[in-house]
Amino acid sequence: MTAEPLRILILGAHPDDADIKAGGTAAKWSAMGHVVRLVSLTDGGAGHQSERGPELARRRRAEAEAAAAIIGASSEVGGVPDGTLDDGIESRHRVIRLIRSFRPDLILTHRPTDDHPDHRFAGLLVQDAAYLLTVPAICPDSPHLAASPVVLDFSDAFRKPCRFEPHVTVDIGREFDEAAIVGDVAAHGGPTGRISNHPINAATSFVMPGTRGRFRPCRASSRPSARALARPNSEPLGSAGIRD
Ligand SMILES: [Zn+2]
Repeated sequence: MTAEPLRILILGAHPDDADIKAGGTAAKWSAMGHVVRLVSLTDGGAGHQSERGPELARRRRAEAEAAAAIIGASSEVGGVPDGTLDDGIESRHRVIRLIRSFRPDLILTHRPTDDHPDHRFAGLLVQDAAYLLTVPAICPDSPHLAASPVVLDFSDAFRKPCRFEPHVTVDIGREFDEAAIVGDVAAHGGPTGRISNHPINAATSFVMPGTRGRFRPCRASSRPSARALARPNSEPLGSAGIRD
């Protein structure tokens, strides 16, 4: 056991995905001393009904940075035009280099079955990259990882081809009542107004295949393996249930 904090990468397709899906959990982890990074693969330039292009992308980048600062995380917004993410080799290699440069113990991202193509490809890119992160011959300009990180899925409401089944949940009710998450909503709800009504106030949940039990927070001072984040917990899910 070491005092080294965990490195947690929350990777979304758009500049608000990481904090919408895991902002409360990110704030909780950050407060524990873990190193959290929020990433968007696209520039967010198509994420508004009446505005678009570089000006919207700049605004959404600023919003993502503001939200990350409130959460206590670092922020990275990629340059892929919103709505055009694909699962080609170039994209896969970009994600491999991105993950290797941060060296995460844990990655949270979209399910590869999400209806939105950017979300779906983000999940698929992480899934495909995860297998290759430890292979030296792949992207040799980027030092390979000694071990693959644990990958968890964001919760979602999609039912086909399979309904999301949470195996790991994190109650963020307290964080939502505090400035971090209220500020997070304000950071995004101001300029674009996209998530001001988003029900992130219940719980953030993830699923890790093969894992049973609920999330039990860990302390940075006693760094467990990333898989230990999901050890069984007898606490109930909470009256608010799971939303996304
Ligand atoms: Zn999105």
